[in-house]
Amino acid sequence: MRLFSTVFAFLLGFATLAQAADAKVYHLTLATTWGEQVPFLGTAPADLAKLVDTMSNGRLKIRVDSPNKHKAPFGVMDMVKAGQYDLAYTASYYYKGKDYKLVFFTTVPFGMLISEQYAWYNYGGGKELAAKVYGEHGLISYPMGTTGMQMGGWFKKEIKSLADLQGLKFRIPGQGGEVMAKIGVTAMSTPPGELYTALERNTIDAVEWISPVFDLAMGFPKLANYYYTGWQEPASEIQLLANKKKMDTLPADLRAILETAVATVGSQLMNQATNANANAWANISKDYPNVKVQQFPADVMAALKKAAKEIEEEQAAKDPVFKEILESQRAYIAKVRPWTLMGEYGYLKQLEK
Ligand code: CA
Repeated sequence: MRLFSTVFAFLLGFATLAQAADAKVYHLTLATTWGEQVPFLGTAPADLAKLVDTMSNGRLKIRVDSPNKHKAPFGVMDMVKAGQYDLAYTASYYYKGKDYKLVFFTTVPFGMLISEQYAWYNYGGGKELAAKVYGEHGLISYPMGTTGMQMGGWFKKEIKSLADLQGLKFRIPGQGGEVMAKIGVTAMSTPPGELYTALERNTIDAVEWISPVFDLAMGFPKLANYYYTGWQEPASEIQLLANKKKMDTLPADLRAILETAVATVGSQLMNQATNANANAWANISKDYPNVKVQQFPADVMAALKKAAKEIEEEQAAKDPVFKEILESQRAYIAKVRPWTLMGEYGYLKQLEK
């Protein structure tokens, strides 16, 4: 009996110790690229923090700092690398100046659609390539939502041929801007806060921004009537970047909670984006009946495709890992695109009959 009670007391003590270890609260800091005023991208980190707190019963806390606080919206990746923050919410392609191949984990001109890109990432080798690329930076990257298809931009004049683009002052940043510059456009990188005035005063002739919900908020439908469909950013994926060393200090259950919450908030963001774009487009087409949705003519598209390919080949010649990812994505598109075309695209085409 005495032995039993000794063992019992020992086990009880052990259980109490285990509970004490479980009760330890872990703290992470998150620097985000977008302020809270930005539709859904601005609120996703707070949603993540709240979900993680609930799922972990208060054992994992995330403090979210907006750009107002950390002052470096496009410096968040570096801050996580340096250990100044544990997490960053941002888009990989903002850092192409540091490592060009990061573009593949957001979106690339003439790249995959959302469903294709997630299939590539999860089942076509994308995740392993991301681990390789981000591992070199001491980071782990988690997909955390997508803003989806982007539009090709707002133009004051209709683009009837490649000749109409020559010297046109078009605000288009990133890889799309590099491609446009190659075909004769004067690619501008006007800061977001000056875009409306620049377009109004003809300092720029056209502007590429995001999609209806963001474009409406910028006021572009008031100033330009031709809204071109996209080619440059077909599946903009947003990332949560994590400091690898810090992640290794988290117990396995809290790490699983964080990863599950990231996937949940990411999926929510994708649905929010679809819903918000649908609402915004309904408003634009009602309030601005002069706005016409246009497609670039065939000679423009042919020139864009050729220029995009040249840029990819230039990068591939410089960096074998860029080449590896490029080939992985091209091979996956060759496999998945026939299904996209016969499935969803075939369905929509058939409905038009
Ligand atoms: Ca854009």
